[in-house]
Amino acid sequence: MDLLNTLVDKGLRRELPTREEALAVLATSDDDVLDVVAAAGKVRRKWFGRRVKLNYLVNLKSGLCPEDCSYCSQRLGSKAEILKYTWLGHEEASQAAAAGVAGGAKRVCLVASGRGPTDRDVDRVSKTIEAIKEQNEDVEVCACLGLLSDGQAERLRAAGADAYNHNLNTSEATYGGITTTHTFADRVDTVQQAQAAGMSACSGLIAGMGESDADLVDVVFALRELDPDSVPVNFLIPFEGTPLAKEWNLTPQRCLRILAMVRFVCPDVEVRLAGGREVHLRSMQPLALHLANSIFLGDYLTSEGQEGKADLAMIADAGFEVEGAGTTTLPEHRADVAAAGCGGHGGGGCGPCGDGEATPEAADGAPVGEARTDLVAVRRRGAGTDLPPNA
Ligand code: SF4
Repeated sequence: MDLLNTLVDKGLRRELPTREEALAVLATSDDDVLDVVAAAGKVRRKWFGRRVKLNYLVNLKSGLCPEDCSYCSQRLGSKAEILKYTWLGHEEASQAAAAGVAGGAKRVCLVASGRGPTDRDVDRVSKTIEAIKEQNEDVEVCACLGLLSDGQAERLRAAGADAYNHNLNTSEATYGGITTTHTFADRVDTVQQAQAAGMSACSGLIAGMGESDADLVDVVFALRELDPDSVPVNFLIPFEGTPLAKEWNLTPQRCLRILAMVRFVCPDVEVRLAGGREVHLRSMQPLALHLANSIFLGDYLTSEGQEGKADLAMIADAGFEVEGAGTTTLPEHRADVAAAGCGGHGGGGCGPCGDGEATPEAADGAPVGEARTDLVAVRRRGAGTDLPPNA
């Protein structure tokens, strides 16, 4: 296919595809999905080989958020029966982080619900970062605390945070339909504050919230403009009790096309397969490793992922290898600019959904749009519970 040959050539040269080319990837048919994966896989292998970076989420503060992000199980008024707790102590947080590192993660992502941290919260998280780094100085730490105020990024960086995650989530045009309590511009501003403070920026999207193909291309082009080191791709988990609970529209093939498009637009950036991978890709997850070079190990913020051991087995069976702590994630030309790799929101509140295409069938024969609540398990172990974490 001429389109795919062109995109591979551009990806190998780090050249930006046109919007039309990115849209054309999303418009390919299910018959062509293996060709699309193979083409984007060439770009992935050029910049990241067969390495898979593992990241581990620690939900420091869960639920009870005053913001109204429609996709999020922790939002204002959410009826989702998730774990709700306030700030974990440093010891519990660093123990959870250590479990992830022992399981193979090279990055720990410290996430807290809320609009943004107070200065006291920044102190609290700084102490947790210091505790984690004391245990293991090589571990990368990413903070994800919401919108930042003046000076907070610098303080987190000084405390040892390598990266900061704040997702753009969806296109600027559709942002107001998803969240009313803050704006797309607020999110861009926080990512830029993190970059200005010397942290590696991690910023991505959530697919499946009812957006169009043009919206998806818009948000990925906006991300490319922002130039984060890592782009987490979440697939909406339609939690019961949230406004998007009925948005069951993604198929595994659609998810693969979205990941391929992101890889072509951001060829040398860490593309992270994030929340919703088990729910929407299901048995097709291994194919996504040909597109993304990074995943979350174990559970998400408010939902359970597949067992950490199953993640490791999947990586080995698919012929990939876990990226070691001594390896730099980014290609040399980017690593020179960024001090570290990147993190991701991971989508405890970020789940899957649909795109307004015609109604295809999911791989198991269930019509797209039919609720698959059997696929969503609310997290009941790890941080905030007495049960051991999944790592
Ligand atoms: S995504 Fe973050 S800011 Fe939005 S409702 Fe969820 S926890 Fe709050």
